[in-house]
Amino acid sequence: MFTCKQVSHSLSKEDYAKLPPAKRFFLRLHVKLCIFCGKFNRQVMDGQDMCRHFKQHEATNCQVRAGVARGPERRVEGAACRAVGKELKKLKAGAPSKVDCLALARAL
Ligand SMILES: [Zn+2]
Repeated sequence: MFTCKQVSHSLSKEDYAKLPPAKRFFLRLHVKLCIFCGKFNRQVMDGQDMCRHFKQHEATNCQVRAGVARGPERRVEGAACRAVGKELKKLKAGAPSKVDCLALARAL
């Protein structure tokens, strides 16, 4: 069985998932049972899990974020298109098509 100091030192040195299976098992056992360092070291292990998971799915996360950013941008384009269309109707220049509106909105 490890001491609290050994467990904390081991967790601070590297990711516990990279440890040999037997050492990882006893480390987890200590963290589960220890009333002194259990809560703190559980949080350290959760943080390591979170960082590892983020690294593994980093590319996917970026694509999801880019997809979210596209939504409001489209809404702004639509609003600009409608505003330009209204102005053109006021000038009685004829009903513009959506493509024309987008070109005008980009030009503005
Ligand atoms: Zn302990």
